[in-house]
Amino acid sequence: MRIHVDRDLCEGIGMCESMAHAFFEVDDDEVMHVLDPHPAEEHRLHVVAAVASCPVQALSLTPRS
Ligand code: SF4
Repeated sequence: MRIHVDRDLCEGIGMCESMAHAFFEVDDDEVMHVLDPHPAEEHRLHVVAAVASCPVQALSLTPRS
């Protein structure tokens, strides 16, 4: 799977980081960084929960291509 971020929507709120800090990090300027855009399948539940937690629907997942 691959993590996508809509930068026009992301507001740096950080829910994704709190749900899965191994994959998302919000810096001091409230810019969110995807630490690993291609999570292994074993982390799917964690990543899906983080994607679902975003209050502005800035995150999405696609199959890895
Ligand atoms: S929860 Fe959504 S708005 Fe907040 S940092 Fe993550 S992607 Fe951006």
